[in-house]
Amino acid sequence: MSSSGFEGSYLGAADRISPLAIMECKICWTPYDPAEGDDTRQVLPGTAFRDLPDDWACPGCQAPKAQFLVREDPGAPDASVLAERDRRTEALVADFREVFHAKMRDVPMVNHALHVQAVDFQPWEGGFLGVLVAPWFMNLVFLPPNVWPLLPAGAKETIAFASGDYEFLHNSRPMVGPYLACSLFSPMGDFTSQLQAVDVARAIMQELFRPENRAETDRAGEIRARREAELAPPPQPDPEPSRRSLLTGGLGG
Ligand code: FE
Repeated sequence: MSSSGFEGSYLGAADRISPLAIMECKICWTPYDPAEGDDTRQVLPGTAFRDLPDDWACPGCQAPKAQFLVREDPGAPDASVLAERDRRTEALVADFREVFHAKMRDVPMVNHALHVQAVDFQPWEGGFLGVLVAPWFMNLVFLPPNVWPLLPAGAKETIAFASGDYEFLHNSRPMVGPYLACSLFSPMGDFTSQLQAVDVARAIMQELFRPENRAETDRAGEIRARREAELAPPPQPDPEPSRRSLLTGGLGG
């Protein structure tokens, strides 16, 4: 994909790195082990690499987080699970490309800077969870395992995550079959590029699993409101619109 210097490292592969992954600095080989944390920065044992603050840096050489590579990942899903993930997300994307071409392409609300893309789908509860970006919506999508009790299309189901409870609608499409979707944004007029939409989708996947984001109210609604506020009026077009603030926005504070 384009630009942003992911360098094949943590940021480019975040969806393939489990919370147990032991990482190492590619400059000086200093490891980060989540079992140990980082006592030079008051990072508690048990903190996953992906949950380190964005300004965390290598204790050995101060290299930024993006310079870390996976040394060992005992929690990594095996290849057959990832192949299944890819098969189902490709079917999901194919279904919504079909909807776009059949129904949506001439509808004024669609944002033609965007295309259908499955972002950061990861194994969860026997199925796969991720964000689906489309020219007219961004949804959290759960592709359920066979044993998941399915409800009629349009029926609601609340699913609990570390950051709170989210309301999903059951649905089904010809290629992907049954899926559950939680609306994050629609329409998508505030997004200026696919890269920006994907960045927001990635940030949402991280925030979803952070207990410090928990509140009593509608979490999807709050994330949506905050993102809309952040995306809203760019006084001047920003070439790299506040990726950092999206990631560090801190839903609680
Ligand atoms: Fe280093």
